[in-house]
Amino acid sequence: MKILLASSEVYPFSKTGGLADMVGALGVALVNAGHEARIVTPLYRGLRDKFPHMTLVNWHFDLPLGERHVKAELWELDLDSGLKIYFVDQAAYFDRAGIYQEGQFSYADNAERYIFFSKCVVNLARYLAWKADVVHLHDWQVGLVPALIRHEHTSAGWGKPPATCVTIHNLAYQGIFPAEAYALTNLPKHFFHTEGAEYFGMLNCLKAGIAFADVITTVSPRYAREITTEELGCGLDGVLRRRREHLVGILNGVDYQEWNPAKDSYLSAPFSQSKLTGKKKNKAALQQSVALPVAEKIPLYGTISRLAEQKGVDIQLAALAEMLNADIQFVLLGSGSAEYELGYRELARRFPGKIAVQLGYNEALAHQIEAGCDFFLMPSRFEPCGLNQMYSLRYGTIPIVRATGGLDDSVIDYAEQTDEANGIKFYEYTSRALAKAIRKSLAIYQQPDLLRQYRRNAMKADFSWHRTVEEYLTVYCRTLKSSET
Ligand code: ADP
Repeated sequence: MKILLASSEVYPFSKTGGLADMVGALGVALVNAGHEARIVTPLYRGLRDKFPHMTLVNWHFDLPLGERHVKAELWELDLDSGLKIYFVDQAAYFDRAGIYQEGQFSYADNAERYIFFSKCVVNLARYLAWKADVVHLHDWQVGLVPALIRHEHTSAGWGKPPATCVTIHNLAYQGIFPAEAYALTNLPKHFFHTEGAEYFGMLNCLKAGIAFADVITTVSPRYAREITTEELGCGLDGVLRRRREHLVGILNGVDYQEWNPAKDSYLSAPFSQSKLTGKKKNKAALQQSVALPVAEKIPLYGTISRLAEQKGVDIQLAALAEMLNADIQFVLLGSGSAEYELGYRELARRFPGKIAVQLGYNEALAHQIEAGCDFFLMPSRFEPCGLNQMYSLRYGTIPIVRATGGLDDSVIDYAEQTDEANGIKFYEYTSRALAKAIRKSLAIYQQPDLLRQYRRNAMKADFSWHRTVEEYLTVYCRTLKSSET
């Protein structure tokens, strides 16, 4: 099968979160499974220097964008895995310091930037000699593609367009813009209605994707159920309920080439299920590098996260304020809202020598935290899939999670399967419930045999891409059938 994936971020080229990891890994996994996959993404600043083997394609985009025409070039890079990446080169839109924003401010022309990118995706799908069977779109930035393809099919002579699949990585980000932005799509008015791209008089790019894609997926089965409810539907539960039969939840896989404690070049010592001594060395190295007292016996907790409301920062700050009176240490790696960054800095001032706060984005430290910590905290308000709890499991770092979305689907609590337990779940969204879960972890920590069993169970959990990719292929086949009828 031929699959064209389109995403505004792809690891290792650009990344602000799990979306990039997932798309990069899905592309490779599809190729490994014997399929032809290609990815299209914007050419952001610095990529040509970082990947000098990229070559210019003889391809010149010149596409209508409202009343104007906008030009762009195309680059391509063939990865060792056999995956081809296309980069849309439009310097005015993508040669910038940030991806979506600078500092706390989103770029004012994000609608224009990603509507243009969506049109480039459609142009490639239609005119490349390599004809994709399925175009797989990720998140709001390319949410308009199914409508654009449908329009070219019905009104612009595109005989047999590919089937479309839209994946929702996080329903909270929908790409909502003033109605005037719709003119940039050059689509006729009939796509802009309550069952289509319109949302309370505004343009909603993700809603357009949900309405017009042949199939919609999201990144865990539980989240697929949750987003059809008013509580977690972010205003789109109605359209999702209407399309329920075309909505599938598939848990993301983990790229175990990148996240493998036995072969991780960021670590001070490798370790595995059968040789756990390396984990102790990583704990000491982590404590030293973030300036916490090096102490083997003190349980070390970690979090790596965007500091956003979704991630449960408010209850985590309150629970830590209570729990840091006990003999524990905590390390945070994250960045995001100024208010939350300040909250952690204040906590660090209150509990010197017990909490390390590292603000910013740091790939190496993320691996070292996964390896060196005893427990990993993820108290999300909602979590479409979540990757860090799966990385934690592989690194024998016991996840403490709120039972929502992918966190609920990937972690096993003692109350669910005693012998298979590999983490701790709590249910209520309160700091009290989180503090109670942390107390449970302290009890586990004091029983070395039990802790070892949790670690063993955690490290054997398998979220490799084989299973995930099979599920996507099933969905693609279904899409092909439904687009034929
Ligand atoms: P989300 O996509 O909602 O941010 P996920 O758990 O799905 O959350 O994915 C987050 C990804 O981003 C993980 O790979 C995580 O390690 C990484 N990450 C998040 N914040 C940082 C940071 N400050 N430094 C390094 N990696 C980070």
